[in-house]
Order: sequence, then C-alpha cells, then structure tokens
Amino acid sequence: MTTSYDLIVIGSGPGGYVAAIRAAQLGMKVACVEKDPTLGGTCLNVGCIPSKALLTSSEKYVEALHSLATHGVTVGTVGLNLPTMMAHKTKVVKDNTAGIEYLFKKNKIDWIKGKGTIAAVGQVNVGSDTYATKNILIATGSESTPLPGISVDEKFIVTSTGALTLSSVPKTMVVIGGGVIGLELGSVWQRLGAQVTVIEYLDRILPTMDGELSKSAQKILGKQGLQFKLSTKVTSAKVEGNGVALALEAAAGGSNEKMQADIVLLAIGRRPYTEGLGLENVGVKLDDRKRIAIDHHFQTNIPGIYAIGDVIAGAMLAHKAEEEGVVAVEMMAGQSGHINYDAIPGVVYTWPEIASVGKTEEELKKAGIAYKVGKFPFSANGRARAMADTEGFAKILADAKTDRVLGAHIIGPDAGTMIAELALAIEFSASSEDITRTSHAHPTLNEVVKEAALAVDGRPIHI
Ligand SMILES: Cc1cc2nc3c(=O)[nH]c(=O)nc-3n(C[C@H](O)[C@H](O)[C@H](O)COP(=O)(O)OP(=O)(O)OC[C@H]3O[C@@H](n4cnc5c(N)ncnc54)[C@H](O)[C@@H]3O)c2cc1C
Repeated sequence: MTTSYDLIVIGSGPGGYVAAIRAAQLGMKVACVEKDPTLGGTCLNVGCIPSKALLTSSEKYVEALHSLATHGVTVGTVGLNLPTMMAHKTKVVKDNTAGIEYLFKKNKIDWIKGKGTIAAVGQVNVGSDTYATKNILIATGSESTPLPGISVDEKFIVTSTGALTLSSVPKTMVVIGGGVIGLELGSVWQRLGAQVTVIEYLDRILPTMDGELSKSAQKILGKQGLQFKLSTKVTSAKVEGNGVALALEAAAGGSNEKMQADIVLLAIGRRPYTEGLGLENVGVKLDDRKRIAIDHHFQTNIPGIYAIGDVIAGAMLAHKAEEEGVVAVEMMAGQSGHINYDAIPGVVYTWPEIASVGKTEEELKKAGIAYKVGKFPFSANGRARAMADTEGFAKILADAKTDRVLGAHIIGPDAGTMIAELALAIEFSASSEDITRTSHAHPTLNEVVKEAALAVDGRPIHI
C-alpha cells in the first residue's frame, strides 16, 4: 500500500471533483483518480463547456449575419474563421480544467493519474500502485450510446465529441436523435452554414420535456433552418467516399428512404461508463439499465462504496451530479442530506433557450393531479421587444387546490437563467401567488415569469 485516504473518488467530472472538494472541506483526506489527461470529466472537456462555447460563438455569427441590422448596427461582410472559433473553445476548456487543478491544490486533494480499479473493499489500484481508503466514491460518468450496426469513426460518423472538433463546416449533416445534445450541436453547425436534418425515432423532439415546449421548439428551430424527420429510424449509416450513406425507415415499419450526408452525428443518448472499474471484484450490483444501484445514502450494496452522477439513475446533468456529490460526502461525514429531484432544472442551450423544472403537464395528467396553467408570451414583454427577441413563452403549472408550483417551462431568450427563479420556488414550496407578490425588476425578461404566475390566477396585467 502506498498511501491511505479517507475517501478516494474515481472520476473527476462535475460529480467527482465537487464531491472531492466538499469532502476536503469536511476534513477528509481525499484523492481523486482520473484516467484522462485533464480534470473535469465529460462536462468540462467534451460536454457542457465546449458545446456552450461553440453555441455562444455561433450565436454571435448568426447575430452579425441576420439580426444586428435590426438594431441599426451595420457591419461589412460577415466572415467565419472556424479555426479561431475552435481555438476560443479550446482555451475555454483549458482554463476551466486548469481551474479544477488549482482547486485540488488549494484543497490539498491528491490527483492520482490513471485508470482506477476497485481491487477490494477499501482498495483502489491505479497502474501498479495500490491505495487504501475508508470509502470509495464512483463518479465515472457516461459515454455516448452506440447504435447497433453504425460504426463511429469520429470523422464522418461522429459522437458529440467529434462534432465539437470538425475542421470545416459540412454542407450536409444528419443528426440521429432529437434530444438535447443533437439539437444543441445540430444548431451550432446549422448556424455556421450546414444543412442539418434531425432524425428522431419518436413522434416528437425533446421527448422528456413538456409537450407544448417541444412543439414550440420544433417550430422555432424549424424556422431557423433545422429540418426534422420524426417517427423515423436510421437502419444503417455507412461511410462511402467522402460522406455517409444512410438508410431510413418509418418507426412503425413500412416506408424506406435513402439519404446522403457529409457528416452524421450520433446523439441517441448516453449510457453509464463502468469499463475496467472492477465492480465484479467486489460484487457491486447494477440495476436493470446497467446503472450502479444505490440506496438513499448513495451507497451501493457494498458498504463503503458509493456512486453518484451519470453512472447512477436519473437525469444526466452536470448540476445533478454535483448535488449528489455534495450530499453523498456530507452523509459519509455523518451529516444529513437530501436532494429534491423535482427542483433540478434542465436546459437546452439552443436559441431561444428551452428550460424546465418540476413536473410536465403530461406527468401531472398521468398522476391524476389537478393543476392550473398560467402562460405568458415574450412578445408582450418590454425587454424582449427591446432585444428584438420575442419568440417563446413561460408556463407555470400550479396545484389546483393549494396553488403550489409543481412545474415551470420556458422557451425564450435566456430561459436557462430565468428558470433558476422557478427552481427556487419549487425548492421553497412556493405558490404561484408567492411569485406574483415578489417584485420583479422592470424591464427584465423575468417579468414574463411574474406574468405567467399572475396568469395562473387569470389576471396577467400586460396581455
Ligand atoms: C456534448 C455534451 C453537452 C452537455 N451539456 C450539458 C449541459 O449543458 N448541462 C448539463 O448539466 N449537462 C450537460 N452534459 C451532461 C454532463 O456532461 C454530464 O451529466 C456530467 O458530465 C456528468 O458528470 P459525472 O461527474 O457523473 O461524469 P463525467 O463528467 O462523465 O466524468 C467522469 C470522469 O470519470 C473518468 N473515469 C471513468 N472511469 C474511470 C476510471 N476507472 N478511473 C479513472 N477515471 C475514470 C472519466 O475519464 C471522466 O473524466 C453534456 C454532455 C455532453 C456529452
């Protein structure tokens, strides 16, 4: 044994690194094992951060092309320097991952470089080194889900990782999967000039979000130029010459179609990653979907071995992994902890942004819960008009009897930032009346939230 720890975290994504820092704050001697050359996991290296860098940069490009003129700002010929855009993204990633390295040093967390394998309870092996530890926290995240029969080469048929590093703008791109990642990265390349077709097996995009939001998103993104083929499955995709030949079929069977694309982005979801972790050495159990099974303390069936983040059940979101990391180590330290999963927002960073928290209308109907709906459009908001960004609406769902906010759904400019107010409302068990009685600065986009809350009671002011 080389060194012994109170806690070894395996994986340095937002779940793992945040848990490591919180554990160090609580006085534990902590190490974090990471197999990749930089800290930060999927989120910082090939997920949230680089995708948002490209989304922001491509938004600016489209703004210069199409919307600055509305504000009386005239520019000369608008050009695209893709290498500079990519270099900006790379720098943002580098700064963020270096930031975690700094935080590890500050909190005296040892970064063990290499792949961690659980050799026994209380023992993690990395290469030829063995480390003893009182507790192990698995935070090994997820990987892109493959589609049988389609081989990813990260050149012509890419996952999100390849789609973040294309060296030129493809003429045509097919995105397999109308979920968050497909729509975000599809938007990036569509804005930069590609003709993008999103193929979705189900009859709607963003299938887990509120139906009205999905419908509106499809309409708005469609107007921007994204094309959609719903209820359609891709039966094969093969690299041929400098492109990909695809075969499609109606999801229900029947009609067939062929398509050609320069680039295919496979974005049908992500699956837990546990390869080489050594779960079989100690008998850690998985659930029916190959996620690590845990109890209410994030402990696996093996005492002293815990798991959080994408590798367990629940939404695959960075902030969900962070919350779990914090609560898991606080409970290890003897504190009590709790996560209200209904108060965890989900955001799609297209433009307009799409954001949700709590229950959807479909979920409430299925559960037989009586609810009231309040809706307000951005087109009636002064600030949105000033921004010339008036598409979308906010919708609040409140319990019909108690008025408690049960869910909130926004599509519109900065929806991802605006949803925080409603996550807080749900966390504090607020009523829609509580929101109406809270002063909202004027003129702000958040007044749309206040008006939607007033609309729950049938009394919006500005419509
Ligand atoms: C393109 C894209 C965009 C996304 N955008 C967003 C977004 O905007 N907002 C959001 O909330 N979420 C987003 N996500 C999802 C988000 O990235 C994940 O939910 C989050 O990273 C999960 O965190 P985690 O700590 O569980 O695992 P990860 O971030 O996946 O980190 C796991 C780490 O464990 C390491 N590891 C695995 N096995 C071992 C081992 N045996 N030994 C050592 N190290 C190991 C891996 O190398 C990795 O670094 C996005 C994902 C993608 C792919």
